[in-house]
Amino acid sequence: MNYYSTNNSSSDVTLAEAVIKGLAPDRGLYMPERIERLPREFFDGIADMSFHEIACRVARAFFGDDIPGDELDAIVCDTLSFPTPLVEVDPGIYSLELFHGPTLAFKDVGARFMARLLQYFIRKGDDHRKVHVLVATSGDTGSAVANGFLGVDGINVHVLYPKGKVSPIQECQFTTLGRNITAIEVDGVFDDCQRLVKSAFLDEELNERLLLTSANSINVARFLPQAFYYFNAYAQLKRLGKADNVVMCVPSGNFGNITAGLIAHRMGLPIKRFIAANNANDVFFNYLQSGVYTPKASVATIANAMDVGDPSNFARILDLYGHDHSVITSLISGTTYSDGLIAETMKDCYERTGYILDPHGAVAYRALRQLLLPGETGVFLETAHPAKFKETVEARIGAEVTIPERLAAFMKGKKQSVEMSKDFADFRAYLASLE
Ligand SMILES: *Cc1c(COP(=O)(O)O)cnc(C)c1O
Repeated sequence: MNYYSTNNSSSDVTLAEAVIKGLAPDRGLYMPERIERLPREFFDGIADMSFHEIACRVARAFFGDDIPGDELDAIVCDTLSFPTPLVEVDPGIYSLELFHGPTLAFKDVGARFMARLLQYFIRKGDDHRKVHVLVATSGDTGSAVANGFLGVDGINVHVLYPKGKVSPIQECQFTTLGRNITAIEVDGVFDDCQRLVKSAFLDEELNERLLLTSANSINVARFLPQAFYYFNAYAQLKRLGKADNVVMCVPSGNFGNITAGLIAHRMGLPIKRFIAANNANDVFFNYLQSGVYTPKASVATIANAMDVGDPSNFARILDLYGHDHSVITSLISGTTYSDGLIAETMKDCYERTGYILDPHGAVAYRALRQLLLPGETGVFLETAHPAKFKETVEARIGAEVTIPERLAAFMKGKKQSVEMSKDFADFRAYLASLE
């Protein structure tokens, strides 16, 4: 199946091109040219299927034309090496825990899938050079991408991060891995890291010699696989007899996660409606109210992975619904909460139920408490483990957050990094020395 750019519906590239390019040359986002509606029987039988079986079926709808079934199944099973359980927090309100992967955040799903898909295309293609993935991070993306690609043959990952500006927990998740992962500690801020990566992609000479690619969250191979766990959540609800009138509530930043849910809905997944839960970054919320989209500079909050002032996947949402504001508002509602309310929510939920929310999940949990109607079942996506935001959470709930074993293991590892100035000439020389 081919992919078109949200800026030009008659453009047309293969899956391999869309994955390797990431962003379309016209700066649009790639969309699948067809979204297959899954048959009734699939949904009737879904409660008896395993997560792997469900995900393989969904994956075939997206990628079945491009990858032989058995190879695709292997990629899916290897990606989903961890569960996504549903935990009841309040009567009728469930947490979909997406933090059981290697870096304790939902981005593990997309990053692991993309790494394996890219490896498949490299093995199949005629270009036998190594692929170099360049990623600039302010924290979380770097760890998900680095761990997703760890040990994947033929691909080297270079994670650029601002020296002294990521939390120690985040830093150890990409600086202690070794093998095919190199952490580059840039003497600058996040924007410098991003500029270095962009300059490398624009450098013709480098690109002639090296196969450079990004693992940006807008990549179709990172974005589409997120649909898997929406289907799996539905299967779990069905087993509980709670699958009617389901409301999915997604803590949103760049809106990739919720857009994957909207695609699942388009494939026939019986979800009644969606809520996009936002922190103080309220551009989407304002769009829903007014019909006018006005990007702004992001503001810093305690749910910092959602500090986005111009969400890239907004273009995909517009495209899915033909730019029709009334269709969008009939399916999606929004909320926006200050840090004060997010903090209050973590505390209140912990005191009443004993459940520890991370700041991002807390935004979505609060939205369900506010907007869920009688007869509806609410599911919020718990996108990260609270231990990733240990200090923030502990200060609010007044109790200790235990660090899971796999996070503690990172913290015991030895940090290895390459020091780099923010001058492109240095980064260029580093790249030029690679094979
Ligand atoms: C990235 C991230 C989000 C936002 O997801 P989008 O797909 O960008 O909307 C929410 N929570 C956490 C913990 C994240 O890391």
